[in-house]
Amino acid sequence: MVEIMTERKRITVVGGVAGGASFAARMRRLDERARITLYERGEHISFANCGLPYHIGDTIKNRDDLIIQTPEKFRRRYAVEVQTRNEVVAVHPARNTIEVESNGEKREEPYDYLVLSPGSAPIRPPIPGIDDPRILTLRNIADMDRIRALVDERRAQRTVVVGGGFIGLEMAENLRHRGGEVTLIEMAKQVFAPADPEMAAVIQQHLTLNGVTLALGDAAQKFVDKKCDGIEVALQSGKTIEADAVILAIGVRPDTHFLTDSDIALTRRGAIEVDAHMRTNHKNIFAVGDAVEVVDFISGRKVHVPLAGPANRQGRIAADTIAGIESTYKATQGTAICKVFDLTVAVTGLNEKNAKTWDIPHLKSYTHGADHAGYYPGAFPLSIKILFSPDDGRLLGAQVVGKNGIDKRIDVLATALRHGLTIYDLAELELAYAPPYGSAKDPVNMAGFVAQNILEKRMPVAFAEEIASSPREDRVILDVRTRTEHENGAIEGSINIPIDELRERLGELDKAKEHLVYCQVGLRGYLATRTLLQEGFRAANLSGGYKTYSTLQTADYDSSYVSPTHESTCSSPTGEESNEDRTIVDATGRQCPGPIMQLKKAVDQCREGQEIEIRATDQGFALDVPSWCNRTQNTLMSLVNEGGVFKAIIRKGRRGDACTVPQDGDRNKTMVIFSNDLDRLMAAFIIANGAASMGSSVSLFFTFWGLNLLRKDNPPRVDKALIERMFSMMMPRGAGKTGLSKMHMGGAGTAMMKQVMKAKNVLSLESLVHQAQE
Ligand code: FAD
Repeated sequence: MVEIMTERKRITVVGGVAGGASFAARMRRLDERARITLYERGEHISFANCGLPYHIGDTIKNRDDLIIQTPEKFRRRYAVEVQTRNEVVAVHPARNTIEVESNGEKREEPYDYLVLSPGSAPIRPPIPGIDDPRILTLRNIADMDRIRALVDERRAQRTVVVGGGFIGLEMAENLRHRGGEVTLIEMAKQVFAPADPEMAAVIQQHLTLNGVTLALGDAAQKFVDKKCDGIEVALQSGKTIEADAVILAIGVRPDTHFLTDSDIALTRRGAIEVDAHMRTNHKNIFAVGDAVEVVDFISGRKVHVPLAGPANRQGRIAADTIAGIESTYKATQGTAICKVFDLTVAVTGLNEKNAKTWDIPHLKSYTHGADHAGYYPGAFPLSIKILFSPDDGRLLGAQVVGKNGIDKRIDVLATALRHGLTIYDLAELELAYAPPYGSAKDPVNMAGFVAQNILEKRMPVAFAEEIASSPREDRVILDVRTRTEHENGAIEGSINIPIDELRERLGELDKAKEHLVYCQVGLRGYLATRTLLQEGFRAANLSGGYKTYSTLQTADYDSSYVSPTHESTCSSPTGEESNEDRTIVDATGRQCPGPIMQLKKAVDQCREGQEIEIRATDQGFALDVPSWCNRTQNTLMSLVNEGGVFKAIIRKGRRGDACTVPQDGDRNKTMVIFSNDLDRLMAAFIIANGAASMGSSVSLFFTFWGLNLLRKDNPPRVDKALIERMFSMMMPRGAGKTGLSKMHMGGAGTAMMKQVMKAKNVLSLESLVHQAQE
């Protein structure tokens, strides 16, 4: 019997996508004679579930590109009997059989080996109204087709996405790509749970910049059918949101209900328990993928981590084991990456939330750099947070966020973590470098350098969360950035001594107090901390600087409901006019507040009304520039996001202030010119020209007196009555002949005034009239 089995094993696979299909393919490569049968409940096998949101968003245009293997092709290539639309409804380990249901009929099939890869199903909690057909989940091609149809037919213009995990974020992005309004509700106070709040906050800012309304720390409590008006989503906070469709993406649970009575060991959450060979409590039954419980690489705890990479690798290990090859699955470290519009966030290993919950000793550091050399065009900010062991510096976890090069950094860090490397190793890694790709000190090296200084106590550090949580009398918060940086935003109560003045101004500091030093990202703070320590002060540097601090402030939402600031994120320029005189400022590659400082310098050098076009790659710029313009009385004409490069056009001066023109929306102006006095006419024309230059359409209505302005020096002869001729003689003939309303002094006062105006480069009334006519 054993020999027969060895010759032609009957191997049954449940589930034909990531884990199941990769198992079957590997199994065939290892055993040409095995009889492999794959049962799949759905219509498709081996489809790219990770690509589903991108077909909804039309990035992946061709639906068939998502179907990697058809049952026929799989059958032909791997000689695997594929039975789609066949659901396994029970397993009987005692009889070595499964029960299969197809077309309403059940049958029992025998196996020698059974491999379970049923995946995980979206959670649908019993919220009132949840059965509305417009409340959808996304797991397979059929789900995708349903959602896409709603979007294509424009029946889902307003969508609520419930859940800010991978699928929720990807759906939010893709639905925005299709032009709909999107509100994302997340019960936690942050999106993307695998990251810590201050790292996720960067993504949250980016979502709002891209027009997604966020409701964090809130939860959907009820769905009310409003018939043709859509669905009303009632939130725990009492708010309500109207939507045409709801995407439910609040997580998944192992899809193992069919195993409940099978005697296969399951956890309380329904995950299948397996050993390192992916074997269940039955020696000929294996399980892989989203349905199984795995060991966490750092903590050694049992966890459920539904990711495609582990599913595929586990499928391979199960096949090896059945084929007699020694192969073990050691642990899952949760390396994951997610694209959110122009940004990418990636994680590996332990995060700080879990480190605290599980009481794992750790140190942490933040570093903010750029994906490649700042002087080479197109550098984007890149932030890294790492956790490491306080004993030996072993890397415990990493999080990276930015636009470019996130994948390679996280993969280097994931590899380092998997092989037990320390922060010293990170500092030593020799990584590929040329200006378009990285820096001679790569962000990963930098993370190592900084962590090394922390571990070796060369740089005592403080963290942003400590500042808010423990205000202290005996502590001075010292900002060592420039004055302009300080003025643009600083920690409350901090004093400002720029780093370059610190040595001369040490006398202003008090040795009895502790100094919490900060700069923008941590580097100048480090230098200042070293100076202070060597001068006998107590000092600690704020890790990640003001950048981490300010991000944490925005992360600290309390039931927040953040609407996108459409004013600052218009997808097409509003009121942008071509202006050949425009000053162009390239602030790409610069960290905030660098772009704002460059903008200020440019504005200072411009004349009133002149435009500045500035490009920046730090999204902090897009968040800051509207309020900066407001504060400094300049006009933000437009702000657009061009693939992660924010382009703003700023006009120096206030539209309204310069010419007392009402704001946008009131573009037509009518002015009444009722005087022929030079000063009054000047004022009227300055206002009129100002309004016209700001894009308003201006009509001038002249009264009898005002009309004198338009009189010509040599008009054609016209017959006039005596009284008319008298008026003609008494009244000024055109702009050049007008006089002051007061102190005309027989023309002397007016002549003096014109002289002064000329000296001060004030346009003459004639020029103003000419300009207005132009
Ligand atoms: P699945 O691939 O889900 O396959 C399970 C199959 O089993 C299903 O087709 C199901 O119909 C079938 N089945 C279930 N029960 C039965 C039964 N009783 N009888 C017969 N057939 C059954 N992971 C990443 O790492 N990166 C990503 O970017 C990513 N993006 C994702 C995007 C989306 C929209 C989704 C839904 C998932 C994404 N994932 C991603 C997760 C990843 O797809 C899963 O981790 C992976 O597919 C799990 O593989 P699996 O074989 O365990 O389950």
